[in-house]
Amino acid sequence: MKLRIGVIGTGAIGKEHINRITNKLAGGEIVAVTDVNQEAAQQVVADYSLNAKVYPDDDSLIAAENVDAVLVTSWGPAHESSVLKAIKANKYVFCEKPLATTAEGCMRIVNEEIKAGKRLVQVGFMRRYDSGYVQLKEALDNHVIGEPLMIHCAHRNPAVGENYTTDMAVVDTLVHEIDVLHWLVNDDYESVQVIYPKKSKNALPHLKDPQIVVVETKGGIVINAEIYVNCKYGYDIQCEIVGEDGIIKLPEPASISVRKDGKFSTDILMDWQRRFVDAYDVEIQDFIDSIQQKGEVSGPTAWDGYIAAVTTDACVKAQESGQKEPVALQEKPEFYQSFTTVQK
Ligand code: NAP
Repeated sequence: MKLRIGVIGTGAIGKEHINRITNKLAGGEIVAVTDVNQEAAQQVVADYSLNAKVYPDDDSLIAAENVDAVLVTSWGPAHESSVLKAIKANKYVFCEKPLATTAEGCMRIVNEEIKAGKRLVQVGFMRRYDSGYVQLKEALDNHVIGEPLMIHCAHRNPAVGENYTTDMAVVDTLVHEIDVLHWLVNDDYESVQVIYPKKSKNALPHLKDPQIVVVETKGGIVINAEIYVNCKYGYDIQCEIVGEDGIIKLPEPASISVRKDGKFSTDILMDWQRRFVDAYDVEIQDFIDSIQQKGEVSGPTAWDGYIAAVTTDACVKAQESGQKEPVALQEKPEFYQSFTTVQK
């Protein structure tokens, strides 16, 4: 029997997940949708020819007897409330980032999940499902380069809109590095500092761009992460890990090379959807498969959502203070110690 899924929030990523579950992946079907904009929800049912009911709100969708699992793809401030309701109803829930907009909100979800006694929550940090990052993880776990010492990474976008503000560089953009890097090196963050290089002429007046975030882990690894969201030339994700015995680097997305007119060239992607489209597929398939095969979700946990919130808070503080700021995590609950987060 297919996993019957309800979707809360039928905007951009909600539609993408509906499309992949309906037309690409196996084992799941969309049976319910809701959105604050009810017409948009109706439209999605028509556009994707879904055999799904449109509910007036998340309460009624979550309560529906034929909904086994919920995708929360509404805007960030609405996530916490929908996730808490889903846990209380003992339903599986996949939540796009952020899990909640505050660390306290993430802790409320963590505590509710612990009370439920089994893993119901998966957070949408899809980089852990990207084949390049999975290869980096395998190399590190197999000690191919010995102990990791430093990580150099970059998150570059061609351009951002007028409503993109300086704090979004960490809260919306760097958050993906924040999640994937502690998972890669199996370490917790100790402190963060933000440095502003010379500002790009391509950045709007209100935005500080580029930025460099220097992160130290408890184990002593130093990470320097560049965020440059008006780089013009493409969407470019770089990650190089320097170890005691060698260096490993994230592979470039596959692209044919062209020899022409005295030049040797390859394409650079221009948008993030194409860069991580395969990772999204694997991520959502894992959500469906884990529930059906093990009766529990796997992948990034509510605790990982909490780590992301505490770390981005510290980064925002560091943006304002110019100082090194501590990443003050509470002690990891026993409940989350047992879950392996190594992806297939
Ligand atoms: P979006 O296009 O604005 O979609 C959000 C949708 O949710 C809109 O249709 C919005 O309606 C609706 N909505 C807002 N509050 C709601 C509520 N309380 N109940 C039901 N529906 C509600 O945004 P998006 O780009 O899809 O992003 C959605 C979430 O996914 C964000 O948290 C974002 O950070 C995350 N995201 C993650 C990734 C990733 O790489 N993992 C990528 C993209 C997005 P209105 O338009 O009427 O407000």
